[in-house]
Amino acid sequence: MRPIEDSYRHKGLRKKLVETVRSKGITDEKVLEAIGNVPRHFFLDSAFDEVAYEDRAFPIGEGQTISQPYTVAYQTQLLEIKTFEKVLEIGTGSAYQAVILAAMGAQVYTIERQKKLFEQNKSFPFLKKYPSIKFFYGDGYEGLPTYAPFDKVLITAAAPEIPEKLIQQLKVKGMMVIPVGSGSVQRMMRISKLENGALKEEVFDNFSFVPMVEGKKG
Ligand code: SAH
Repeated sequence: MRPIEDSYRHKGLRKKLVETVRSKGITDEKVLEAIGNVPRHFFLDSAFDEVAYEDRAFPIGEGQTISQPYTVAYQTQLLEIKTFEKVLEIGTGSAYQAVILAAMGAQVYTIERQKKLFEQNKSFPFLKKYPSIKFFYGDGYEGLPTYAPFDKVLITAAAPEIPEKLIQQLKVKGMMVIPVGSGSVQRMMRISKLENGALKEEVFDNFSFVPMVEGKKG
């Protein structure tokens, strides 16, 4: 069961987490504010209550994880989110990252390939606070052609290569943030679609994500 109460203790732990993430190099105050406002323990089973504000990834079932807060902050900072931007997220998982984006004013479209994880978020009352998030069950490799183009695309699973269909769903001047690599470690990359349609690729630090897998799992 996911907890629903936010105590002073949780708020205090969240403040400390913000300082930890800041000390590791995150400078975007809007990102830090969102990490400070969103109760991360809500997204984990109550068994994780004591550790929910440690800067670590945790299991969320089905062999998947909620990303480490530093990683969430790192990807979000690279995306340079502005209010009302349309953001496509691949890999809803716990929905924590989706809520961080929504807390920053983005219109979020998030896709999860595992039915159980998708269903879990349907019965998660806290998400009612964020009507700007739309949840989809499907294969993220296909994106959401009906809702494209997007200002930003965020991949929260390790992609062996940059998915071409998702580049197509990116607006001109849009950006994709994606961990690329098929081994146990991936390179964080940012792909920008320039005005002449060309792509600019930037490479950042190494991270370790669960793999982006093709097809849906029922
Ligand atoms: N953003 C999540 C992180 C979840 S881990 C969070 O904040 O908790 C990555 C998630 O990506 C897993 O839930 C996994 O099932 C999902 N995933 C992997 N491949 C996918 C694909 N092709 N389409 C959609 N989701 C995918």
